[in-house]
Amino acid sequence: MTFNLATILRESAAATPDKPLLHTSRSTITYAEVDRRSARVAAALRARGLTTGHPVAVVLGNTPEFVVSYFGILRAGLTMMPLNPQLTAREIAYHLRDSGARLVITSGTGLHAVRQAVDEVGPLPIYAVSDGELPEGSVPFASLEQFEPAADIHPTASDDTAVLLYTSGTTGEPKGAELTHFQLYMNCSVGGALMGFTPQDVTTSVLPLFHVFGLSALLNATVRYGASTILIERFAPEEVLEALDRHGATVFAGVPTMFSALLHAGEGRRGLGRVRTAISGGASMPAEVIRSFEAAFPGTTVLEGYGLSETASTTTFNVSPAERRFGSIGRPIWGVEVAIVDQDDRPIGPGPDHVGEIVVRGHNVMKGYYRRPEATASAIREGWFHTGDLGYRDADGYFYVVDRLKDLIIRGGYNVYPREIEEVLYEIPGVAQAAVIGRADDRLGEEIVAFVAAAPGVSLDATAVQQHCRERLAAYKCPRQIRLLKSLPLGATGKILKRKLRERETGTEKSA
Ligand code: AMP
Repeated sequence: MTFNLATILRESAAATPDKPLLHTSRSTITYAEVDRRSARVAAALRARGLTTGHPVAVVLGNTPEFVVSYFGILRAGLTMMPLNPQLTAREIAYHLRDSGARLVITSGTGLHAVRQAVDEVGPLPIYAVSDGELPEGSVPFASLEQFEPAADIHPTASDDTAVLLYTSGTTGEPKGAELTHFQLYMNCSVGGALMGFTPQDVTTSVLPLFHVFGLSALLNATVRYGASTILIERFAPEEVLEALDRHGATVFAGVPTMFSALLHAGEGRRGLGRVRTAISGGASMPAEVIRSFEAAFPGTTVLEGYGLSETASTTTFNVSPAERRFGSIGRPIWGVEVAIVDQDDRPIGPGPDHVGEIVVRGHNVMKGYYRRPEATASAIREGWFHTGDLGYRDADGYFYVVDRLKDLIIRGGYNVYPREIEEVLYEIPGVAQAAVIGRADDRLGEEIVAFVAAAPGVSLDATAVQQHCRERLAAYKCPRQIRLLKSLPLGATGKILKRKLRERETGTEKSA
């Protein structure tokens, strides 16, 4: 049987060729067009001598060319390696070298850094999306799209790597998580079904497509179920609200900081239009943000899910408003097992007092870290992938993330979970972002530091923040330092970067 992940595009294009797949601020592109363009890209890549297993680096934002390249690469049986276009030349060089990429596709934004990276790594063809003139050594992307004759789908084995997704995992340098055609197909099929995707849906691709959440949980599921998606390159709350309205979005997906930003941008001014479901993932969603969000945008339900790059995205999900539990990441999706284990990998029973590491087994767990057998063996033990997240489950099989193992603060011998404090901070009216970290302390081992950013137009008082915590938390959990910042540093997906806060903290002596 001729199958690879690109079949999801081929099938939807055959069923509804004229239906829009992509909405951008400038154009609407149908299924047939993406199918046709990607078939040509596939043929052009094969004609260049690329063959099964060869990685192709795609350094693009959320643009139609990203989607066309992605399905072209899959269709040709090659391996897609998406990279953040904001990476520096040095970082791109690392990824190109580590993956052994054979070709790079980029655009004006990433071109300069890619050029420098290629100079460092060695000769590689560069195809660039551009309206203007290209520097020497790069070829217009359009030449790939014009290639004739177009290619049919290249058959793959279910275990062939479709996507190489770089992630730091729990430790160390970025490593390529190898996700196969089978895993990604299963994840978007099961995930999309649980999210209730139908051809009538219009989803929102504002999460970067170079990240697993945007790529697998959203784009793949959109295409698999014949829906449409709005491509948004940069998260700007007012523009996102406007785009949701204009294109009649029914599904929004984002990380918690996006929910918070939309809430403060949209409250009382603009609604969420037809959005029925807003999917949250990627980081802990404070219960207070869900409550305020649903109050501000009636008709929209927030459903939280959980997953990692290594698990092809969706691992657990709160499937419906009736079945969801606040603060929970939901139950494992079909075909996936989740368990909580202690330090010796022994399973532990239910209940909030039984916190351990979350481990995952099932069709969604990556094949391994590319060319890193040791890192793979340490992450996947006896078939169970170790997530590096701490959590527990309740008696009904719902899971709760307590924190990242590496974010746990041990203060004076007590375990303090930053998330618990962050939940309390988000209860303060006007708090838009909050993050808690540990700072080395001679006396207590670690001391707790809270970083808080207020919503636009709100002013916060550090003493009042401290007082709020004291009234709600045991004394040993109360942050000793409150840092009021204009905004907290965010990563490419919009997650708060605690690493940056730690770096800032070690160089800062001022306290509240
Ligand atoms: P990434 O590989 O970039 O997708 O990051 C995966 C990590 O994001 C997980 O190991 C968790 O620490 C975090 N994460 C994802 N979803 C959630 C969630 N719903 N609640 C808490 N943390 C989450």
